[in-house]
Amino acid sequence: MGRTYNRCPRCGSSNTATFIDRYPFHDDEMKQKLNSGKVVLGECRYPAVSVEGAIVPLGPTKRCNACKKDFATPPILIDSKTGVAEDYRDIVTSVILSVGGFRGGWTEISVKKNKSGAMVCVSVMGPAVSEEDMMPDRQISAKEWKRLVDTLYGKMNLHEWKKKYVIPGVLEGTQWKLEIKMTKGRKRTYLGDNDYPPYWRALLKVFEEISGYAKL
Ligand SMILES: [Zn+2]
Repeated sequence: MGRTYNRCPRCGSSNTATFIDRYPFHDDEMKQKLNSGKVVLGECRYPAVSVEGAIVPLGPTKRCNACKKDFATPPILIDSKTGVAEDYRDIVTSVILSVGGFRGGWTEISVKKNKSGAMVCVSVMGPAVSEEDMMPDRQISAKEWKRLVDTLYGKMNLHEWKKKYVIPGVLEGTQWKLEIKMTKGRKRTYLGDNDYPPYWRALLKVFEEISGYAKL
């Protein structure tokens, strides 16, 4: 099950290596792992930042053996003007996923943080909407909200996703949008048109579970 989230956020390959910090002197097992591409030596070329008093190294923890990109950096946003470092999981205030088709309707699931956790709202638009699409708003606990942002950033590496996933030239198909709102009016938007990030299925499952709406 752990493998589900062990994929390159750029190309989707699960053929990845994990960085290790120290050189493993004369350790046959480690040499074997190095040769097999399961681990890769760290290079200490990334700085660390302080996030609310905790020191967080900014380097990637994984390397993709397929596209050779490094990934799984900590989900830290550094303000370019002030240099202040914040963890995305602390500053996200709402997460909104919309999925739709060229001819069909749209489904939007929004999860908005509030004092006791977050409010989950499902709205379905389009010609084929039925009574079972009318979902009551649902309050989730702070623990469930935390699990959501942990999954998005800690496991799916959302901060490393491309902004657009598009296969051009297809007229009919699925469009989607994932919108992240943060404190201080900050926002991130991820769009797709017949193309999807590596964790697409997992993302849909997360939203289905949190909303109780299983028709995404
Ligand atoms: Zn890759």
